[in-house]
Amino acid sequence: MTDLLTFDRDHLWHPYSSMTAPSPVYPVLSASGTRLRLDRDGREVEVVDAMSSWWCAIHGYAVPELDAAVRKQLDAMSHVMFGGLTHEPAVELGRRLVRLAPEGLDKVFFADSGSVSVEVAMKMAWQAHAADGLTRTKMFTIRGGYHGDTFSPMSVTDPEGGMHSMYGGLLIEHVFADRPPRRGEPLDDWKASTTALFEQHADEIAAVVVEPLLQGAGGMHVYDPEAVQHLAALARAHGALLIFDEIATGFWRTGPLWAGTGHAGVTPDILCVGKALTGGYLTLAAVITSAEVAARVDASPARAMMHGPTFMANPLACAVASASLDLLESRGAADDVRIVGDLLRTGLSPAVGHRAVADVRTIGAVGVLELWEPVDVARVTAAALDRGVWVRPFRNLVYTMPPYVSTAEDVATITAAMIGAVDEVHG
Ligand SMILES: *Cc1c(COP(=O)(O)O)cnc(C)c1O
Repeated sequence: MTDLLTFDRDHLWHPYSSMTAPSPVYPVLSASGTRLRLDRDGREVEVVDAMSSWWCAIHGYAVPELDAAVRKQLDAMSHVMFGGLTHEPAVELGRRLVRLAPEGLDKVFFADSGSVSVEVAMKMAWQAHAADGLTRTKMFTIRGGYHGDTFSPMSVTDPEGGMHSMYGGLLIEHVFADRPPRRGEPLDDWKASTTALFEQHADEIAAVVVEPLLQGAGGMHVYDPEAVQHLAALARAHGALLIFDEIATGFWRTGPLWAGTGHAGVTPDILCVGKALTGGYLTLAAVITSAEVAARVDASPARAMMHGPTFMANPLACAVASASLDLLESRGAADDVRIVGDLLRTGLSPAVGHRAVADVRTIGAVGVLELWEPVDVARVTAAALDRGVWVRPFRNLVYTMPPYVSTAEDVATITAAMIGAVDEVHG
């Protein structure tokens, strides 16, 4: 284990990490159900997973149905190119996505990660306007968002919390409205300023791109369905397309199947899904759009959608994604999420009024403690591990997005550990 950690420290980058002064990492030995088995200074410990591995592993780990789907597909083929070829796993997953997608969205582009799906969605929007000459080059979005780490997604990610300060000069400048007020607060001022800003740029805006209801990595900010409706109305009134990035919010995470359609009753023109799509087994995302947008893309000078990743519609990923969607439907994911959500609300309620805690909020199977100050990530992580839980805080947020299959006991352990760790380190 020392060897492993030494090589890791000397040679491997971790997400958003320094090679010269890396933060500590814990080796994971295996994972099963809602538990991770990891090594803590030579001691093997089993902890409850509060993160679903960045929101993907919604059924937990080593899930028999998903393992079986991968094994079965492995016997047939693990990968073939998607250019000029097709296969049953892609078609079967396509069928499921078309059935689950909001009404009218039935054209599917498979991408290999969430960031790439946002790239593709933005390219679709640009191409859809290109028949009229490429005069609409801007995206309209709200501050506080997160859409991925490649250049186009970065350009619509929050300009302050995101990476604009580092890459500013290299990014296309899009139009940012203020972040909508938090859920339940008055919206009139925000609506007025957002409308004014939109009208100022209306003829150059190709699309509105947002995470409906819940901004995830941009700050776990929950905002009002009415703000989503307002953005949709602006897009529609001015001939812009509407892109919903439901990579974090899709597949029941916020309660309904889709946050935008479910909470706000709004159907986008283009929908991005990813993260939980394969149940956390393999990387896969999809962009789903309407026949109308697809036709407009084809009316562009390219006469086709100009994107085609090497691992497009990877059969293993598609097969496990179909198995995951079947499992969600047969288990009744909406009920699972509601139960976990209720437990999170109760479990986190003792943190309300804690002197380190500025806000406690939940939506669907998401629970957030917002602190007054930036989290001491290494210490809070260790303090949570002491309490049997894996959490990965960021900025001033200690949050959980646990697997949907978490038991009442798991959720109680998670919420107690979050509060206990915050109290120990920041209390
Ligand atoms: C994680 C995430 C992405 C990026 O997905 P990757 O698979 O990490 O590229 C994009 N948008 C949202 C809302 C996300 O949560």
